[in-house]
Amino acid sequence: MSLMSGPVVRFAPSPTGRIHIGNARTALLNYLAAARLGGRFVLRFDDTDLARSTDEFARSIELDLAWLGIAPHLTVRQSARIALYEQASETLKARGLLYPAYETAAELDRRRRLKQARGLPPVYDRAALALTDADRAKLEAEGRRPHWRFRLEHKVVEWSDGVRGHCHIDCASLSDPVLVREDGSFLYTLPSVIDDVDLGITDVIRGEDHVTNTAVQIQLFEALAGEGRAPRFAHHNLLVDASGGGLSKRSGALSIASLRESGVEALAVAAVAVLTGSSDEVHAVGSLRELGQMFDLAHISRNAAKFDPDELQSLTQKTLHILDFESVRDRLALHDIVGAHAEAFWLAVRGNLGTFRDVVDWWRVVAGDIAPVIEDADFCRVAAGLLPVEPWDEGVWGAWTNAVKAATGRKGKALFHPLRLALTGREQGPELARLLPLIGHSRSVVRLGA
Ligand code: GLU
Repeated sequence: MSLMSGPVVRFAPSPTGRIHIGNARTALLNYLAAARLGGRFVLRFDDTDLARSTDEFARSIELDLAWLGIAPHLTVRQSARIALYEQASETLKARGLLYPAYETAAELDRRRRLKQARGLPPVYDRAALALTDADRAKLEAEGRRPHWRFRLEHKVVEWSDGVRGHCHIDCASLSDPVLVREDGSFLYTLPSVIDDVDLGITDVIRGEDHVTNTAVQIQLFEALAGEGRAPRFAHHNLLVDASGGGLSKRSGALSIASLRESGVEALAVAAVAVLTGSSDEVHAVGSLRELGQMFDLAHISRNAAKFDPDELQSLTQKTLHILDFESVRDRLALHDIVGAHAEAFWLAVRGNLGTFRDVVDWWRVVAGDIAPVIEDADFCRVAAGLLPVEPWDEGVWGAWTNAVKAATGRKGKALFHPLRLALTGREQGPELARLLPLIGHSRSVVRLGA
């Protein structure tokens, strides 16, 4: 991947569950950061945990991203890249940067507690570094297998974070992280860095829960790719629910799939996901492009991004109200809403939709069969007789109701409401000036009971 093509970002979910709006925040921040500068978006499945990762979850994540409007330029799976990780870990072992340690979890725990009791930081004491070849052979003869730790340089690692500004972590205060387990499987840290190097990732944009991993990862970038070769980092605040609690991947209701099924608009999810917890007010947008134009990582706050799920419903309506015909043409066609009137229909009804699916009802009103409600049969018959001849445009409603008013003496609600009930079968709805030309003369006559 060429570095000349703008930023290269990645979204790296583990396919161990459905993604929720908080994950969508990370995905969208990455996507917008790349898209606005003509960059690339890599979807990386962190599926090395074979017991919990499934193809089905991976497919659902792809589907959710597509629904949000994100088309990855490249998709990779860590489970298919193990050979690369093995090669890199052998290199690190040969350079003495990855060393074997044999302590059991119980031993480590005991040592940690002893340190804490003495008021010392519970950092791994590197005892394994003092083992001789003979010690190791003895431990292995006892049936122990090593896990492998990365030997951190005890220095202060600094980076300029795209959200948090200048950050620094003193690596002397960290335990050498375990990168490879006893069974040879890899923990998240090493494959992540190897992939970021291999795929030419220029910007790592992720949740602030990963800040503590960053110093270790920067040292790994330096070990694997050379000094100064770490990508730029930006750690965004996490979406939390109204009570301040985090959103778990398993908390069904806010999964992208269930939001989609409940009729929430993708652009409403995107606006909430991107703008919450930033200096930009959450508001409806007509496209991801529009969202990208105002987007700036530097606008993200360092406070928690508190969000109210109810906002998604109201924002869905506001979004529908501003969507232009082109952006919904294909979705309307899925409901057989096609033809010369489709655009006029959309512009007439979009302001009255609670969710997109309501178009089906309104399409029936203009082009199908409904049960008219006749309050006053004589009045409706008189009105039917006054309908102008076609062709009709939006002026027809005014001309017609003026004629009905003159003939019957009715005005205001007494004039309009029975006409609405007869023509649409509903108490309320889009402006009749827009609907009437779509309903047409012959259907109107029938509904008015003439
Ligand atoms: N799989 C990791 C996660 O979902 C990726 C973290 C990262 O972006 O480096 O938290």
